[in-house]
Amino acid sequence: MKVENIFKSALLVILLSFLVYQSFIASAERKTDTTSEEQEASPEENKEEDVKKTVDTQELSEFPGLHLRTETEESERYTLSITVPFTNNDELNEPIEAWINETKDEFFAAIEGTDPGENIPHLNVQVKTVQVKEKVYSLLSSAYKYTGGANGMEFVKPFIVDLHNNKILTLESIIPMNKSDQLAAVIKEEIQESNAAEDIDYESLETALADLTDLKWTINNQILTVYFDEYEIGPGSLGILNFEIPMSKIRGLLTEEVVGLFNIQPDSSEKDEQKEETTEQEEQNNQHKNNQNSESNQDNSANENNNEDNNSNNSNENNSNNETNTNESSNEKKYVALTFDDGPLPETTPRVLEELAKFNAKATFFMLGSQVEYYPQLAQQVAAAGHEVANHSQTHPDLTKLSLEKLEYQMETPRNNIEKATGIRPHLMRPPYGAVNDQVIAYAEKNNNSIIQWSVDTLDWQSKDPRAINDVIKRDVISGSIVLMHDIHPTTVDALPEALQYLSDEGYEFVTVSELMEVTNQSGAGPIYGKVK
Ligand code: ZN
Repeated sequence: MKVENIFKSALLVILLSFLVYQSFIASAERKTDTTSEEQEASPEENKEEDVKKTVDTQELSEFPGLHLRTETEESERYTLSITVPFTNNDELNEPIEAWINETKDEFFAAIEGTDPGENIPHLNVQVKTVQVKEKVYSLLSSAYKYTGGANGMEFVKPFIVDLHNNKILTLESIIPMNKSDQLAAVIKEEIQESNAAEDIDYESLETALADLTDLKWTINNQILTVYFDEYEIGPGSLGILNFEIPMSKIRGLLTEEVVGLFNIQPDSSEKDEQKEETTEQEEQNNQHKNNQNSESNQDNSANENNNEDNNSNNSNENNSNNETNTNESSNEKKYVALTFDDGPLPETTPRVLEELAKFNAKATFFMLGSQVEYYPQLAQQVAAAGHEVANHSQTHPDLTKLSLEKLEYQMETPRNNIEKATGIRPHLMRPPYGAVNDQVIAYAEKNNNSIIQWSVDTLDWQSKDPRAINDVIKRDVISGSIVLMHDIHPTTVDALPEALQYLSDEGYEFVTVSELMEVTNQSGAGPIYGKVK
């Protein structure tokens, strides 16, 4: 309980620093922008691209054969985070990557030449992964695009990945083209019988169903689900629509390939066999529902980078008194809280754990719910090593651009996922890009989440240079510092041996954020939420 009070005061400190140091935000953003633009200019040079293609060695993924990483960019003109699912087969990755690139291009075209002002455009791409059967996955990617105004726009793109035959299923592979009119009729009938029937614009529906090439759908052995984007067949208030068509209505239309793949029973099949299949399917569906719920929760915590920077810059001055006090009393212990965001990731997170273990250092990992969902064992490994696991949202969106409903998903899903993986429900949360507004703060307060920013920004995601990372650490860390890093970059891992040796030689004790808050409260040295000049 005492700890909770400390968190609350910490939150207050953060809020105050936000209000008092608003003016610093602009300059911080400008600084960030320059570097991001440089980065944009040479994306091909990103070595991490190579890494993601060769991941396979440890099959840590909860979805065997599938991997996930979250790519984040921030600049003065925009922020974006893309959750990229991938396999070890380039041909399978290609259509997914093509859709992501297309989505990014459209986003950049929409913001071209606009003055973002206060409302920085944002793009967040996430994916819901459902195992349809062994080695067959339904990946429902969705993009949330904010380019101004009250709300963003959302659209979906499903991919059914068949790792048995190494292909992504097309509509043609499940229903012969000469039966597409019959499928269109079934879909229309299903929509007319649905709750949304009254709100549908049937002219738009006819247009959408005239050519099914671009139909958005997922399938399992019981249901074909079709999706329509916002505004596609009705008012935007309907959001993304999905209609579930039972297999019994389309069984006669299906190709032999899909009947075989999903073991779909003919109508006349023996009841017993069908029942067995159904039970299995139901179990899978339930699992999926659980997964999706967890995803939702995870989504809540993702938007760190921009805001984090701002906060750091904003609060330095506030905290300098505390720092000075700590440094003056030379007998007192020195504490530093290392924090790692955006993981866990199999290529790098275990290496971070190894390096920390050499110094018996404890750190805090602000995880993305989506990454935890794919790599729960890794999250568990981090917690088991004595580190603090905290919430960084589900899919790294800018939380300030979300409706309350979406905010709730992004705040709670990761907590559920982390609790499921580690047994511990996190109460620390770091907003992606450090971005907060009244709604985010009110939500955090109401739901016992403490918002944790940082005081030292290593800019590791930008420099991708161990020496530059260590320069920042040597220059800026003082007792009570919260240091921002990302456990998803190999260069950050490479910086750790020197960083840990240096800080250890300087007499620092490596503590978690919660421990820091406790000890600093006892010793009178404050955690620092702003950058030291
Ligand atoms: Zn982040």
